[in-house]
Amino acid sequence: MSKYIFVTGGVCSSLGKGVAAASVGALLENRGLNIRMIKIDPYLNVDPGTMSPYQHGEVYVTDDGAETDLDLGNYARFTSSPLSKINSITTGQVYQEVIRKEREGRFLGRTVQVIPHITDEIKQRIFKVGDQKGVDVTIIEIGGTVGDIESIPFLEAARQFIHDLGKERVLFIHLTLVPSVSDGELKTKPTQHSVKSLREIGIQPDILLCRASKTIPDDLRRKISLFTNVEDKAVISAYDVQNTIYEIPLIFSEQNLDEIVLKKMGLPHSSCNLNWWQELVDTYNKSKKLVRIGLVGKYTELLDSYKSIYEALYHGGMANKSKIELKRIDSDKLMDQEKLEQSLRDVDGILIPGGFGERGIEGMIKAAAYARENGLPCFGICLGMQVMVIEYARNVLKWPDANSTEFAPDTEHPVISLLEEQIDIKMYGGTMRLGASESHLVSNTQIQKLYGRKIISERHRHRYEVSNVFRRSLSRAGLILSGFTPDSTLVETIEWPDHSWGIGVQYHPEFKSKPVLPHPLFSGFVAACLDYGKN
Ligand code: GLN
Repeated sequence: MSKYIFVTGGVCSSLGKGVAAASVGALLENRGLNIRMIKIDPYLNVDPGTMSPYQHGEVYVTDDGAETDLDLGNYARFTSSPLSKINSITTGQVYQEVIRKEREGRFLGRTVQVIPHITDEIKQRIFKVGDQKGVDVTIIEIGGTVGDIESIPFLEAARQFIHDLGKERVLFIHLTLVPSVSDGELKTKPTQHSVKSLREIGIQPDILLCRASKTIPDDLRRKISLFTNVEDKAVISAYDVQNTIYEIPLIFSEQNLDEIVLKKMGLPHSSCNLNWWQELVDTYNKSKKLVRIGLVGKYTELLDSYKSIYEALYHGGMANKSKIELKRIDSDKLMDQEKLEQSLRDVDGILIPGGFGERGIEGMIKAAAYARENGLPCFGICLGMQVMVIEYARNVLKWPDANSTEFAPDTEHPVISLLEEQIDIKMYGGTMRLGASESHLVSNTQIQKLYGRKIISERHRHRYEVSNVFRRSLSRAGLILSGFTPDSTLVETIEWPDHSWGIGVQYHPEFKSKPVLPHPLFSGFVAACLDYGKN
């Protein structure tokens, strides 16, 4: 019978609940258990697809085209549990469904209420994942912080799990902060209070993960244990890692977190082998080479906006035994040629990521031109690829007005334009070209050699495409159209001719990169940057 672990957060946000939940998942998977992961987001949006990256960070896309929270990316990188639409639950989805049923008259005259109707809908959604055949444990991360008004129905649903399934099948892990005050002294009071809030809702945590800048000494762990009723060995010190987040499962395992979970849930104690995690971390720590990559985007102030890209670059770095130093370059500030050269002079390559809207586009185009003319490796992803095509049309085909109709609807050279089926779409949510689809790569192109095969499947999230009207002119001018949809109707990848590494892809390869399986485009890009740096 499937078991359920709820991961909640206390004290404040941004403590790394997603990575903590993913690490628990990794450890249980390592013990041979078949796990699933769910992220609950207590906001009213149906999904984060319509939110600004500044509000929400990256939108992570699954194969089946769900636009989800970036924590699903953490789950994908730390575990091999399958992720799809059902693994992301929001308040918006829950209320939308309950209201739909109410309009259908499905509640037979009853008053529709948060308890039991909303909580039942939440539970059903969790069971839909956990009740799948062969699933041993489902880990549910509840977004937000205990005490938030928005989280209450989800915490209440979680509490009911104990009532419905019994104590053996449900476990609560609570992540808190143990801050240090001016002289470095660690303080446990915020943790005590946050556990108190959780207990007021009827949830007694079984395990505490205590974030702190350093290891929490045993006497303090005992004090936390005494005040919170959590066994002292289950008060885990989640101290800050020095180098890479991939150390976190190791830190938890050293303190026997996986053993404690197995014991408390009555799960079989199969052997644990974390050698490959250890090797991964050791390889990273021992890497001597350093690659400096310029990320030329418009949401550069918020690290989370390009979360999977950063991670995929690190994976590419690991594959090349190198550390990555990211230089965040705000494309808005590249309009002045001198500033542009100054910003790009000391990088070994640039990556132009995805994005929406006109702001910052001209700076990206200038950066692409600089990279193409100076042999600097350049990796364009989604919007980044569109920018590379616009730049080529402007500077090689000499069409100064070349643009995307997203930014210049009336240009005479709309080298990037809207898909036919997108033209009449008025609703923004979930209506882009979304999810996995196949592309066929042209033999002997750089990209085909990197993948080592001709047919690939990658995930999309965009409305605009390379215009077929200009395909011929672009390729006559030398731009290599290196990948297409299987029916050849859409261009999926492009390459600069006679260039060390100039590749643009309409899809998002970053979503499929894992530390154990670095994506070939990211490994290839980092290798090219290393070469460039040598010269
Ligand atoms: N704005 C572009 C489009 O919709 C690119 C989207 C993206 O980079 N994800 O096609």
